[in-house]
Amino acid sequence: MYQSQLFGKTRREAPRDEESKNAILLSRGGYIDKTSAGVYSFYPLGWRVMQKIIHIVREEMDRLPHTQEMLMPATHPLELWRESGRLDDFKDVMFRLQDQDSGLGPTHEEIVTDLFRRTVTSYKELPVSVYQIQTKFRNEARPKSGLLRGREFMMKDAYSFDLTEEGLLTYYEEAKKAYAAIYSRCGLQAVLTEASGGSFSKFSHEFQVLSEAGEDTVYLNEDGTLGRNKEIVPDENDPDILAFCGGSIKKANGIEVGNIFPLNLRFSTPMAAAVMTEGGERADVWMGCYGIGISRLMGTVVEVYGQLGDKPRIVWPASLAPFAVHFIDLTPDRQGKAIYTKLKDNLSILYDDRSLTAGEKFADADLIGAPYRLVLSRRSLASGGVELITFASGESKIVPLSDIAPTIFQTA
Ligand code: ATP
Ligand code: MG
Repeated sequence: MYQSQLFGKTRREAPRDEESKNAILLSRGGYIDKTSAGVYSFYPLGWRVMQKIIHIVREEMDRLPHTQEMLMPATHPLELWRESGRLDDFKDVMFRLQDQDSGLGPTHEEIVTDLFRRTVTSYKELPVSVYQIQTKFRNEARPKSGLLRGREFMMKDAYSFDLTEEGLLTYYEEAKKAYAAIYSRCGLQAVLTEASGGSFSKFSHEFQVLSEAGEDTVYLNEDGTLGRNKEIVPDENDPDILAFCGGSIKKANGIEVGNIFPLNLRFSTPMAAAVMTEGGERADVWMGCYGIGISRLMGTVVEVYGQLGDKPRIVWPASLAPFAVHFIDLTPDRQGKAIYTKLKDNLSILYDDRSLTAGEKFADADLIGAPYRLVLSRRSLASGGVELITFASGESKIVPLSDIAPTIFQTA
């Protein structure tokens, strides 16, 4: 991609009302643009990162047994929410469509339960699970954390249907493993955290990335591998939480990047989602739901890997970087063009062909944060070729022009 043609530009300043590190860096890097509080456009750069996350989520979800991707509507008849009995709980959060008995979907238990009961009739069709990746709408009170809390945001939501509670819990454990794989591939350490089951069940599990920016407080076990959300801890002197933390309280802020719930019969009973059993009776299905905040995950990666200050930068994990290589051409006559042409078909590469100063180009490259950088300049040519820099470590070496292609294909 020619950088001169990229839709979206780096900015010297983030919008004045952006306070969070993720929103400041992503706005400055030309990844996102705020339309209104909690509502963002994703420029091509931002969309590339989002697509990488989605790809990872999809690969790991598709590995789960009997799990299929689909798409459900964003417009929800309120009638279904009356049926589940949740309309009142969501009265502040759901955006309503004027003059219509419908609203924009903040989550999809009602839609999927209704769909299930009109689709599946026999125990022979179970177990089955579906997921979708889609924009969710929630009228959050004061969205000021950038991508961490949007009024519309990208979510992966999955729903499982089983004949028995045991079946549900088996899938639930598999989902935990898939989630662990997803976060790890995204470069995040997410702590499996016990949390409240809300109105659904006795418990749920969250995946919390420890960060100053997190809104949640998470108590941690001795080696920091398991957490317990403050919302289910009555008191720090409670012997239970002390034992959990290994004798003395350990806690940190966390960003909830995912949440899984055994829904049990919470939706199937009121909405009559039942199947015919082997014995010829009707049995309500055991459901679970599994959410990942895709756009929040993107913001979380920037909270963890981004740096503000006089040299603002985002050092993307290689798995999520919008481009593997940023090729900065500082020659006055764009001598790098031939090299770029040779590499572009087999490499995800951004070619900075713009007429700017070296300082401006490097500052932009820091914000864009590709893991590898190629720099072609009079100086690099005098040293024998192109400079190859690993962004995270700053390590650099000169690669002869004739070796560029093999070297970079092996590296990036
Ligand atoms: P929170 O407690 O942070 O408000 P939640 O528990 O209401 O989130 P869920 O309904 O469990 O969220 O949604 C699944 C996932 O979607 C969450 O784990 C989170 O990662 C993400 N998410 C929820 N609300 C938002 C939002 N307003 N903006 C971005 N991501 C969100
Ligand atoms: Mg939650």
